[in-house]
Amino acid sequence: MLLDVAKLGEEVLRKKAEPVAEINDEIRALVEDMFETMIEKDGVGLAAPQIGKSLRLFVVIADDDVRRVFINPQIIKTSTEVGEYDEGCLSIPQVYETIVRPLEVTVQAYNEKGRPFTLEADGLLARIIQHEYDHLDGILYIDRGDKTFAEKTENQFKKRAERAAQKAKEKAAKQAKIAAKIAAKEKKTSGK
Ligand SMILES: [Zn+2]
Repeated sequence: MLLDVAKLGEEVLRKKAEPVAEINDEIRALVEDMFETMIEKDGVGLAAPQIGKSLRLFVVIADDDVRRVFINPQIIKTSTEVGEYDEGCLSIPQVYETIVRPLEVTVQAYNEKGRPFTLEADGLLARIIQHEYDHLDGILYIDRGDKTFAEKTENQFKKRAERAAQKAKEKAAKQAKIAAKIAAKEKKTSGK
């Protein structure tokens, strides 16, 4: 099932997510839906807060094409060596920014079967893990970039959301008017 992706400005993206209490069929179904949604949207990583679930869980498909699930992850080590990479996010569409992060990470997590694992990652995988891990703490990649750019982007999305809400309101008012007209007409006809 395809899930709606929360966009910048939605509160769920700014909340610290709760640990997953039990890795059960419900979680496994959620993981499947998250993979489906991520692939459909050409993403390489998706964290649960991005689909409106404030849970410490994310999924990744990096350049090696392996499906990886991280439940209740913990980054236990990062390299001192850092590098630049142009990041984007399904929650901040059409925006990209060069972000500096450690090049290597070691992460401990549980997979969808409830098995614990430790993974040492570098390259794109290390980058995605750090980006998705941030989502679990309500941090977005723009927070790690230029402050002015982050503010500008947030304002842009806020305005966009306000415009969409206004449009929806106008549409609902129009539909209510039409419905009232039809109801009045029906009343007239049935009165004859
Ligand atoms: Zn993201």
